[in-house]
Amino acid sequence: MSAFGDGRDPGRAETAAAFHAPLPHSAEVVVVGGGASGCSITHQLAKRGVDVLLLEAGDLAQGASGRNGGLIDSTDDPASPLAEFYLRAARLFPDLARELAVDFEYSQDGNLCVLLDEAEVEPMRREYEGFRAIGYPVQWLSAEEALAMSVLFPEKTLGGMFKPEDGHCNPILLTYAYAEAAASHGAKVRQYTEVTGLRLAGDKLVGVDTADGPVGCEQVVIATEPWSRPFLEPFGLHVPVTPQRGQIFVTEPLPPLLGASCIYSSGDVYIYWRQTRHGGLTIGGCRPVDTHGDWLLGGPSASTSLEIQKLIVELTERVHPTIGEVNVIRWWGGVMGFTPDGMPILGRTERWPNLITACGFCTLGMHSSPLTGRVIADVVTEREPEVDISHYRLERFAD
Ligand SMILES: Cc1cc2nc3c(=O)[nH]c(=O)nc-3n(C[C@H](O)[C@H](O)[C@H](O)COP(=O)(O)OP(=O)(O)OC[C@H]3O[C@@H](n4cnc5c(N)ncnc54)[C@H](O)[C@@H]3O)c2cc1C
Repeated sequence: MSAFGDGRDPGRAETAAAFHAPLPHSAEVVVVGGGASGCSITHQLAKRGVDVLLLEAGDLAQGASGRNGGLIDSTDDPASPLAEFYLRAARLFPDLARELAVDFEYSQDGNLCVLLDEAEVEPMRREYEGFRAIGYPVQWLSAEEALAMSVLFPEKTLGGMFKPEDGHCNPILLTYAYAEAAASHGAKVRQYTEVTGLRLAGDKLVGVDTADGPVGCEQVVIATEPWSRPFLEPFGLHVPVTPQRGQIFVTEPLPPLLGASCIYSSGDVYIYWRQTRHGGLTIGGCRPVDTHGDWLLGGPSASTSLEIQKLIVELTERVHPTIGEVNVIRWWGGVMGFTPDGMPILGRTERWPNLITACGFCTLGMHSSPLTGRVIADVVTEREPEVDISHYRLERFAD
């Protein structure tokens, strides 16, 4: 897709030029990877006046950023530092929606973890108490309150946990919105420009190599999610991000059916879903029981499997037993990057202090992206990051 260069207004024509500029010989900062993370980082750097070049191997958002569920959903262990990271990121979306010129279909109607099974009540209650203890905005809903959120929930609904500051958006538009805003602040954005390696002068990192030639720079930001490990390994830097597949589908447009985006868990399987502005239900999940491996890294997309499709449909019928016959328009898969401890890898590396990583976002990189952009821009411009990112150092794995 391209929202650029359509001549609709002069500002956008300038932006279009930034998307078709020749590859420069140098830039202050090169950001590698044009997903939500890389585009948000580029946007924040450009806003601060940094001469920044974003290089994407294919189309912007061709990776998980263009394939995800679109949920802004602050789900995590309340004891984890990520709980604060996710809440702060969620709170950036309303201003972002006002700031960015592209409407990315943001809706802050909250996120409901719906309860249908007695066995899930206690674990959810503990999670709820944990969130309350850290002052997190969360509500416990009675059965009646949860039932009021969708005409499709079954009578046996027991209630749920509701996070009113969460929401959802169109992830492809969000990624393009960041990129267009970055370009409007002077960033150069190059698609179809694969970065083939790091450029070293002795032990110093001095730029990157691309299929179209070298680019010299002072700092490099790696925002290539599951491809970060194979990209950096030949240079002796081990970044433990492994690929995992997510599968998801969208239905034909339906009348309004949901008052919030939702999650339903049962044992080790779960689904998450939302209703898009156009009415389609987007429903994905069951990743932990999916099979995966490095073969996923052959391309930005991933196939779907009948086994997981059946499981997602079965869970959908449990939460929406009266949904009836609905056409599925499309199933697709995408590749996420997982770290051993479920936390991202953010910040400078000890190996090359001018090499910065922003990867390993596991299930919530789109949600995190507004804050990722700000904290990585803080790191690049040598300001104190607005949240403590010491938990996310690459070197924690060596420790
Ligand atoms: C099915 C599914 C559902 C999901 N649901 C949600 C959700 O509801 N909410 C949420 O927050 N997150 C969700 N996620 C996770 C989320 O999509 C990711 O965490 C997020 O998109 C990661 O963004 P990113 O920019 O870091 O990486 P990516 O989007 O993977 O982008 C990395 C980019 O780097 C490029 N690249 C790789 N190597 C090179 C190179 N050598 N040179 C140049 N470019 C390169 C790739 O082409 C790619 O475009 C989901 C993911 C999937 C697959």
